[in-house]
Amino acid sequence: MDLNTYIRDIKDYPKEGIVFKDITPLLKDAKALHYAASALKELVKDVKVDKVVGMESRGFFFAPILARELNAGFVPVRKPGKLPSRIIKETYELEYGTDTLEIHADGISKGEKVLIHDDVLATGGTAEAVCKLVERLGGEIVQCNFLLELDFLKGNKKLKGYEISSLLHY
Ligand code: AMP
Repeated sequence: MDLNTYIRDIKDYPKEGIVFKDITPLLKDAKALHYAASALKELVKDVKVDKVVGMESRGFFFAPILARELNAGFVPVRKPGKLPSRIIKETYELEYGTDTLEIHADGISKGEKVLIHDDVLATGGTAEAVCKLVERLGGEIVQCNFLLELDFLKGNKKLKGYEISSLLHY
């Protein structure tokens, strides 16, 4: 199945000059959704995973499905102020300004094997911040896993030292 046909480009969204990769056509198609979830799981191979960490918002679509497939738990990374219990946070640079992500301090236990998932790897800033959060809690990152990677933005450079696996490349 060619998943590319289920991802549509939205020009100048959310702002001018950005081509937004919209995965909602893939999500709403039963066959494409099933195929994508299975293919994402295949990227993980035989590695044991204790927790799948997904980042708000679009990482939440597949991370819990992957967690179920891998017999692992799911841990959300959220934007500031959304998690109710004790958190740790990381602030990272964007093109203009900064952003902050938070995780529950008890989300990951020391020594747990963690798979990180998001829909898109662009510049890598988001995934890098999530890697830092997980490692601060003592988690061991087994893979950073994405539905699609925008190769020209070289996000893989920011994630040097981590195993990166993306289903689709643009
Ligand atoms: P980055 O930190 O630059 O790697 O950006 C990754 C985050 O931004 C992911 O959570 C994506 O959901 C979102 N993102 C960045 N660029 C795009 C794009 N062109 N299309 C869709 N989502 C994007």
